[in-house]
Amino acid sequence: MTPKSATGLKGVAVLGSTGSIGTTALRVLDRQRQRFRVTALTANSNGALLKEQARQFSPSFVGMVESSADADEAWKSGTDALVAAATRDDVDIVLNAIVGAAGLDATLAALEKGKRVALANKETLVIAGHLVSEACASGRGEVVPVDSEHSAILQCITGHPASQVRRVILTASGGPFRDWSRERLASATVEDALRHPTWRMGRKISVDSATLANKALEVIEAHFLFGLPYDRIEVVVHPQSVVHSFVEFIDGSVVAQMSAPTMELPVLYALTHPERVDDDGIPPFDPVRLSPMTYEPVDHERFPALRLGIDAGRAGGAAPAVFNAANECAVAAFLAGKLAFPDIPRAISSALEKLSELPSGNREELLAADAAARNHVREMVAC
Ligand code: NAD
Ligand code: MG
Repeated sequence: MTPKSATGLKGVAVLGSTGSIGTTALRVLDRQRQRFRVTALTANSNGALLKEQARQFSPSFVGMVESSADADEAWKSGTDALVAAATRDDVDIVLNAIVGAAGLDATLAALEKGKRVALANKETLVIAGHLVSEACASGRGEVVPVDSEHSAILQCITGHPASQVRRVILTASGGPFRDWSRERLASATVEDALRHPTWRMGRKISVDSATLANKALEVIEAHFLFGLPYDRIEVVVHPQSVVHSFVEFIDGSVVAQMSAPTMELPVLYALTHPERVDDDGIPPFDPVRLSPMTYEPVDHERFPALRLGIDAGRAGGAAPAVFNAANECAVAAFLAGKLAFPDIPRAISSALEKLSELPSGNREELLAADAAARNHVREMVAC
């Protein structure tokens, strides 16, 4: 193990290194070897790629998390390796690029140890935003978002007190079904849902983008990251994904952050915030080539998951965890061909109706609400 003080480099653990964000992060870290050293890597799929990454970066810890058919077992074994990677002494920054609730414990443990968590795993904040805040306070850790919209907001508000922010407007690409009628959506296939117009991402977030559940997760994420009430967080459809979000200040001025759609920039900024560093790998900005930039309202009739998630966020308590778990389970069922596309929001709505009032005071209660929501959806779809 080489401590930071000896090398002058910041140690980075990449959790979920073989995924879309994980591989993006390693491309950035490869270009930034004068500032960062990859000290830990974990994944639960694509062992050959993980091996290749280990050869390329020589981390001191490599964790291949075993997948188990039993979700609870997978949770436990996965969590152990992730927490081990996230809490090492040679790790200064934990880039959490795991999908779903499985990323929660590693985030909490890293924050308790005073690390920076560069957080792509937005589900962590949705399930347990208040536990994350408590872990930051008690361990003096910090969360810096990787999600492009939240990175944009952070870049716009840095240097301004929260009291000067009137509202934020998150942009949404609208996903592959932006122009689809309700009737056509009923027969949307997995292949259709994975064909995102502007981003190449993992399967789960691609489906979330198609239902707009992703934007609901992001509204809740913004609420916890920036301490904003829900009536000051809005969403607008912007199909080109060039403006990553807007911040309106109390004097009426609106500041936006733009770039060609690439996750390399928000990943880099999450590592260096509040500094900016030179990086010649980010695609150049060309306003003419990126034109036109257009905006539309969200159609809540065709995409009910957004409203369901925002309402769950407003309700608080166990509701956001139930929303997230029901969505994860319904998306898995859709990807397995066991659920039709419009049944994803139906399953979420049913779980929320039944389970929103469950206790939510601590981690155990939130995990129980998470498990109850998964069971509810499993019973509905028999998966
Ligand atoms: P992905 O499916 O491409 O990659 C996930 C990675 O995590 C893989 O390396 C996989 O092996 C690992 N993993 C998954 N489940 C695990 C578990 N239970 N235990 C251990 N390892 C596990 O996903 P992605 O698209 O990279 O998304 C990762 C996270 O980043 C998600 O929360 C997503 O919402 C968020 N995000 C992604 C993008 C994007 O452009 N892909 C953008 C913004 C936010
Ligand atoms: Mg996003």
